[in-house]
Amino acid sequence: MAIDPASSGDQALLQVSALRVSFATADGELQAVRAVDFSVRSGEILAIVGESGSGKTQLAMALMGLLAENGSASGSAMFQGHDLLGCGQKQMNRLRGSKLAMIFQDPESTLNPYMSIGRQMSEVLEQHRNMPHKQAWLVAEEMLHQVCIDDAHERMRQFPYELSGGMLQRIIIAMALLCQPALLIADEPTTALDVTVQADINRLMLDLRERYQTAIILITHDLGMVAGLADKVLVMYAGQTMEYAAVADLYQRPEHPYSRGLLRAIPQSFSNKLAALQPIPGNPPNPMQLPSGCPFRDRCEYAFADCTATPLLRPARHGGLIACHLDRLPE
Ligand code: SF4
Repeated sequence: MAIDPASSGDQALLQVSALRVSFATADGELQAVRAVDFSVRSGEILAIVGESGSGKTQLAMALMGLLAENGSASGSAMFQGHDLLGCGQKQMNRLRGSKLAMIFQDPESTLNPYMSIGRQMSEVLEQHRNMPHKQAWLVAEEMLHQVCIDDAHERMRQFPYELSGGMLQRIIIAMALLCQPALLIADEPTTALDVTVQADINRLMLDLRERYQTAIILITHDLGMVAGLADKVLVMYAGQTMEYAAVADLYQRPEHPYSRGLLRAIPQSFSNKLAALQPIPGNPPNPMQLPSGCPFRDRCEYAFADCTATPLLRPARHGGLIACHLDRLPE
């Protein structure tokens, strides 16, 4: 599958161009995201992958209009005729919860501990769909069935502290989907859950994409998680795109040293060639003190003289894009 963010705008549900996110700090401007481009179509799942500090969460927060007060975003993010970066607060509030939804790693921080599940869910429909309370309650209960929650009638009357982490994450997904958003952003949705619940939640996301054609942006540090889930992957490092490719291409023949490093760090390898678990040595750079040239230079086993110049994003052999001076990644 050829990936060209610049030309896919016509069919894209979301077209992000030259997105930058920065924060004013006491030590100066911190650039968390540096000119990132990508697109997502209806029913497509895009994974944005990188270590912590790569800028992926701030990218999502910028799209949702949820940056901290000292943060600002530039570029454009066209979504159904709206530029999400230029929307006023009122318009963003209308879009959030109706056409756009986000789920976070920790469901407990999203839910109000003092309100029953049913009340929190039905309020979403009352506010965004002007639904009468009784009808909203029934629709919310039906949505709990759809995300495979047993005893939905009983769960509606319970409070968050009475339910397990896996159950709460399902409820958060159900809540996010109540208004059938066109785009769901899931930020590390299963990181806090055990492996079997993670698999259930992943199946649930695939099922929901099939059923509602919801586009999903899945943000994760774990490239292993996206193997059976995403259609394409954007690999970020130090706020920049390192590689952008169809998921199968990235797993079979990663072209960027950082992507290969992330694949080698997955406990169950997807390729015999990458059988041994090898964490990437070193740590991501301080965003206030990036090395000149390629930001991955200090950790890259293939760095050479050209890498002191910044690599531009260019077409890769697999049809995607990479930012690397290497002509070909050695076997
Ligand atoms: Fe490594 Fe150089 Fe490619 Fe950066 S540009 S990933 S340092 S080979």
